[in-house]
Amino acid sequence: MSKLKPDYYYDDISEIPLPMLKEQGIRAVICDLDNTLDCHETPTPSEKALAFLNDLRSFGFEVCIISNGKQPRVDRYVQGLGIPYIAKAGKPAKKSYLKALKAVKCKPKAAAFVGDQIFTDTWGANRLGITTILVEPIKSIENPFFYPKRFLEKILKANIKKSDLHV
Ligand SMILES: [Mg+2]
Repeated sequence: MSKLKPDYYYDDISEIPLPMLKEQGIRAVICDLDNTLDCHETPTPSEKALAFLNDLRSFGFEVCIISNGKQPRVDRYVQGLGIPYIAKAGKPAKKSYLKALKAVKCKPKAAAFVGDQIFTDTWGANRLGITTILVEPIKSIENPFFYPKRFLEKILKANIKKSDLHV
């Protein structure tokens, strides 16, 4: 059960306190794409996503995007960002997180993972001892396949307190 609980929980990426992560010894931030940075229907990074990615870099974090999305979608989104990325990652498989850690040259202890899904993003990263940050999914037209998963997430989230914004 504890592997399904994120270390931090925010409404969205803009709320994540980057100075606090730095103080905790985090050196790299691995980030999910769909419904975390932008919704599935957004082909290229929104201003908000760009601002977040730029902030990460200006704070000196190594950044990597890992997505279960298809290669062409992820290729197009990250084009020109100069950020390492993994498409078709198969989260929550450990393999994809290990690849991302290699890309950011970081041990799990010094990495944080930002994602919107408890059963893939949070669970997978927690199993490796990566600091986990859950954000609310960006509203998107979702495949009905997701409904049961989102329902179970809702039940779990009822027991997770949102993190303080100013720490
Ligand atoms: Mg996602």
